[in-house]
Amino acid sequence: CGVCAVVGHPDAANLVYLGLYALQHRGQESAGIATWDGHRVHSHRAMGYVADIFDRKTLDRLPGEVAIGHVRYSTAGDSALTNAQPLVVNTQHGPLAVAHNGNLVNALSLRHALEGEGAIFQSTSDTEVILHLAARFRADSVEEALLAALAAVKGAYSLVVLARERVLAARDPLGFRPLLLGRLGEAWVVASESCAFDLLGAELVREVAPGEVLRLDRAGVRQIRPAASPPYAHCVFEHVYFARPDSRVFGEDVGIVRQRLGERLALEQPADADVVVGVPDSGIPAALGYSRFSGLPFVLGLVRNHYVGRTFIEPKQSIRHFGVKVKLNPVRALVSGKRVVLVDDSIVRGTTSRKIVTMLKQAGAREVHLRISSPPTIGPCFYGIDTPERRELIASSATVEVIRQFVGADSLGYLSEAGMLACLETPAENFCTACFSGRYPLLETESETLAKTQ
Ligand code: 5GP
Ligand code: SF4
Ligand code: MG
Repeated sequence: CGVCAVVGHPDAANLVYLGLYALQHRGQESAGIATWDGHRVHSHRAMGYVADIFDRKTLDRLPGEVAIGHVRYSTAGDSALTNAQPLVVNTQHGPLAVAHNGNLVNALSLRHALEGEGAIFQSTSDTEVILHLAARFRADSVEEALLAALAAVKGAYSLVVLARERVLAARDPLGFRPLLLGRLGEAWVVASESCAFDLLGAELVREVAPGEVLRLDRAGVRQIRPAASPPYAHCVFEHVYFARPDSRVFGEDVGIVRQRLGERLALEQPADADVVVGVPDSGIPAALGYSRFSGLPFVLGLVRNHYVGRTFIEPKQSIRHFGVKVKLNPVRALVSGKRVVLVDDSIVRGTTSRKIVTMLKQAGAREVHLRISSPPTIGPCFYGIDTPERRELIASSATVEVIRQFVGADSLGYLSEAGMLACLETPAENFCTACFSGRYPLLETESETLAKTQ
């Protein structure tokens, strides 16, 4: 998911809309914005893309100088409008709206305990647990109530809370997901990735530190919970795949990291080949790195159609099965008769890779050597990335040779875990690599999530 907040600007909702537009890659299922106009909360949430949900009229119905927003894809809870965010509730501390990126690992046990005490949940999302907890504490201020709620939850959260004229921005102590603070003239901005600031014309000030909670209002930014000390558990997969390459997260430029991953991949997994082709879009920077290090020319051998929306109607089987062809098409003249190094960021189920390899062979590629700029994905994520269940992950049960046969490549090589971590300036112990290594932070005591890893 992606979150964004603006404090102290007359066009707050409009700016958050732009921020969400830049963060659309972090969630395409639903989106929403909530604002405070000095008297009440206004909000609008719907299923679909940001550009389809909001128009001039809906934005005009979101007045106020304070706004938060969210783009969602479901990691916990169903894909339904009731789970769309920001979640908005009325509490003894006044109206609260929350937008959350991450996933709590103790949400189920907290929820059961709250329900046992009579709480009625409106959604199946883990985020609502935070609101219920905050709403129950008889604290003097909403800040105190939120801090008490956060003390009870475990897991990944980068969140923004709208509480009347202020926004509270909070990040879990391990810093799984990114969260950044920016400045736009007199206004303050918070977003999941710096590419949102670029579109707003805002300046990146700094990261919200792991564990830190900030209070933003007209008077400025105040820290209400201090940063936690390292080691952290920054999601390495943000750098591998999830974040946009024009963003800066965890203190490093994603596009540069991806290129380095490709260079390192070429060092560890060389191939006897003629050209390097990247799988658009996420495999392109790594393919460029592979090309640069190996000296093999990079060619745009696969072209992506960017206009395949959620509403694309798959033709009837009787016409033909399009599959991945709808999205990707090989450039025959560039790959025909060539030995191709095909670079992608990850293999999840293996089904897409298999189709792309077949496609390149049908376009005349003599050999296809698949190279992956991360280690084999062996386990699911419990911290906010929507990976399928363990049994659906091909590398959870198959060896590299079996995967190679399944995807139909002439050779297959993955980047090592040490190699991946060597491409980052931040020390290795500050990254979560659980889906690649099987070493899960925070999970040892949580039977509910442990069960899912088995
Ligand atoms: P597979 O061959 O496993 O079917 O698909 C691999 C492709 O899925 C890669 O190109 C990779 O970029 C993409 N991918 C990896 N993780 C995710 C994810 O969480 N969501 C989506 N939509 N694609 C992913
Ligand atoms: Fe990121 Fe993988 Fe850790 Fe999830 S398990 S936070 S995707 S590195
Ligand atoms: Mg991809």
